[in-house]
Amino acid sequence: MTAEEKAGLARFLDLASVCARGGYADTRGEYDFDDDPEPEGDVSAGAKPEPENAPGVYAAPSAGLFADDREGAGFPENDDLELIESDARSCGACRLAQTRKNAVPGEGSRRPLVMVIGEGPGADEDETGRPFVGKAGQLLDKMLAAIDLSREKNCFIANVIKCRPPNNRDPNPDETAACAPFLARQVRLLKPAFVLCAGRIAAQTLLDTTDGIGKLRGKVSRLNIAGMSVPFLATYHPSALLRNEDLKRPAWEDLKLLRTALTEMGLDPAD
Ligand code: URA
Repeated sequence: MTAEEKAGLARFLDLASVCARGGYADTRGEYDFDDDPEPEGDVSAGAKPEPENAPGVYAAPSAGLFADDREGAGFPENDDLELIESDARSCGACRLAQTRKNAVPGEGSRRPLVMVIGEGPGADEDETGRPFVGKAGQLLDKMLAAIDLSREKNCFIANVIKCRPPNNRDPNPDETAACAPFLARQVRLLKPAFVLCAGRIAAQTLLDTTDGIGKLRGKVSRLNIAGMSVPFLATYHPSALLRNEDLKRPAWEDLKLLRTALTEMGLDPAD
């Protein structure tokens, strides 16, 4: 690890600990690390073993709710983000419409490098109509900031379902299916360079699998959605990090992998 990576990890672990205690984290603390020594032996180009999760090592494409890859399949003519937003806010396609205060369509950059896709609104999001604004959302913002991403600049933040399930229960399959067109429409218009998926429910829904998040995270694959094939990485949900300290380090590894993948695609979030 380089000194910079170590400092990044330290900042990330600090902020996750403070957020877990409900506080505000100033993550600009000074850290004094050295680079790890260069490994011995032949490290010339091509001689390094390919890391197991190197970007470019793609898993099988997804299927299921988002698998329809016909160009324009089922999308409204002249679709736009405002129409998606008003459709979501007036949607009555499933029972969640009866218990929501506000639908939460999503927000952020209209030309995002990264589209972050979470599970669904919680109480704070239901109250405000905005995604990831509670404690988990504040941690998410800080995680993204650690790799120069933000909803203000280069991310769009959305969820698999747009309305809060009562008591934050898992969404039912019929609710997820009813809501899937909103996300597909958003992806089609936003054309994100990369999708970062937060948590088990979102990853299982997008990849149409029952595998656990421990298996799904940590590798760059591709997501087939809205007639596109988008580079994809799943990681732990920020609320899981708030509950379990042990997940912070692998989550930081995932963020570094995302940063590396963007760099390899010629995209620099700091630009
Ligand atoms: N958790 C999510 O998955 N999404 C939100 O918007 C908030 C919390």
